[in-house]
Amino acid sequence: MSTFQAPKGTYDLIPPRSAKFLAVREAISAPLKNSGYGYIETPGFEDVALFSRGVGESTDIVSKEMYAFETKGGDQLALRPEGTASVLRAALEANLHKAGNLPVKLWYSGSYYRYEKPQAGRYRHFSQVGAEAIGTEDPALDAELIILADQAYRSLGLSQFRILLNSLGDKECRPVYREALQSFLRDLDLDEETRRRIEINPLRVLDDKRPDVRKQLTGAPMLRDFLCDACKAYHEEVRDLLTAAGVVYEDDEKLVRGLDYYTRTTFEFVHDGLGSQSAVGGGGRYDGLSEMIGGPALPSVGWALGVDRTVLALEAEGIELGIPATTSVYAVPLGDEARRVLFGLVTELRKAGIATDFAYGGRGLKGAMKNANRSGARYTIVAGERDLAEGAVQLKDMESGEQAPVALDALVTTVRAKLA
Ligand code: AMP
Repeated sequence: MSTFQAPKGTYDLIPPRSAKFLAVREAISAPLKNSGYGYIETPGFEDVALFSRGVGESTDIVSKEMYAFETKGGDQLALRPEGTASVLRAALEANLHKAGNLPVKLWYSGSYYRYEKPQAGRYRHFSQVGAEAIGTEDPALDAELIILADQAYRSLGLSQFRILLNSLGDKECRPVYREALQSFLRDLDLDEETRRRIEINPLRVLDDKRPDVRKQLTGAPMLRDFLCDACKAYHEEVRDLLTAAGVVYEDDEKLVRGLDYYTRTTFEFVHDGLGSQSAVGGGGRYDGLSEMIGGPALPSVGWALGVDRTVLALEAEGIELGIPATTSVYAVPLGDEARRVLFGLVTELRKAGIATDFAYGGRGLKGAMKNANRSGARYTIVAGERDLAEGAVQLKDMESGEQAPVALDALVTTVRAKLA
């Protein structure tokens, strides 16, 4: 151990577990790449105001969890706590919404930072793969994103997840509901902080997980009863499209999510094997966000799936991803001349696309064979002076234990044929 450790709330991804993270990112992005989403990458930090305006001053994410700092040049920046505001900012800055067809469909993958209280499944540095469809109001787009996330999770073999679905209304009906909810909440027995929340963001009080609060919330006015006709019709269409696609979801009228920018469709993917941090991903429509950050009206929808929690979900379900061994062939030279010849063969095998590793450090045969075993390689190539004098190497099948000489110039084709 060195003097240093990973900062509190963070952890390192190290082999072999790190391979699962790569596989999860790949599995989540594959359906997006297949559906017209282009890859976008934005900086790890942004103007702090982008998040306070976009995500919302009253949210925990902005008010408590943001890594905000002033640069030497006096700029007020923050490490990104989420992806949507940055992606929309970048799309607007590049005028993607003017360049061609709407919606602008983008996907991303990266690290996010929140100064949270660390616990299992909740970290200060975590990673997400996300998707945003910008500039179009169409229930089929909302449905598409939910279907693609469902597909991603299923492609990983996950089955113990549920999709929670709700509509948060729009700028017509939400304010009316908000007022009705506020007058209901003001009569409850709540602590100071929650009372303040009633005034700033009453919908989030509905999301309170404390049993004594939950009990008092029975009988609270529900947004469903306040939705305007347009929102109702929109939501019905999303639900119908999901059902037609065979996606199972649960209506959850209390689902509000922790970010202020959502309108209409909101959803969360929860996994039942994860304990209290059960949300593996979430998203929704954010028709007002563009205007909130100074852009034109651009109704949009998106989601972000947490990579860390998806890996935990795989582990909770006992799913092995069948990640192949990283090395197919391991070369063990006996002596200096063999070292030069085999090192050349290793390069040739690699050029042929065969994952190959080499016994470095000139250790003895026994130690080298141990490493060959550990590498998971299916084949080992061993050669000493006598083999080379005959123009051959010994090719050993690590599964059957069989070993046979193979001519040097036939090695690549032989190994390729055997691995196929
Ligand atoms: P949110 O942006 O809060 O909707 O989060 C979307 C997803 O990111 C969640 O469902 C989690 O899977 C993941 N996530 C959010 N915050 C954390 C965190 N602190 N640690 C690990 N994963 C997180």
